[in-house]
Amino acid sequence: MKIITVKHIIDTCGNTDVIDLTGLVISELDKSYIKNGSVLIFVPGCTASVTTIEYEPGLKRDLPELLAKLIPEGRHYHHNKTWGDNNAHAHLRSSVFGTSLNVPFENGELLLGTWQQIVLIDFDERPRKRKVIIQLTGE
Ligand code: ZN
Repeated sequence: MKIITVKHIIDTCGNTDVIDLTGLVISELDKSYIKNGSVLIFVPGCTASVTTIEYEPGLKRDLPELLAKLIPEGRHYHHNKTWGDNNAHAHLRSSVFGTSLNVPFENGELLLGTWQQIVLIDFDERPRKRKVIIQLTGE
């Protein structure tokens, strides 16, 4: 069994910026020569998430609009008093979505749904450089 770990730096705009990572993951899978196994996509940090979505313009607007209702910016949060910062909503959103995703692959192809893309979401309230770790395991 082989394990390959690669790291990429992704520029984000923050504020629930949704970035499609599917092409990047496919290119790392192609380079790896691993044909069967699974790929872990992980973002270190607690104000961003990795998940899946149908990456189309409507949902790119619907997701921030939903989160503005469920976990709004600017209401009273204890965290903002703890550190004097203003990003409790970003931490809470990250915890709800999680920071990693595991996708199986077979014969060199990700077993994603037809309209399912792998995305990084940056919830912080400012642009960030995000490290994304892609770890392929298999044979
Ligand atoms: Zn914070």
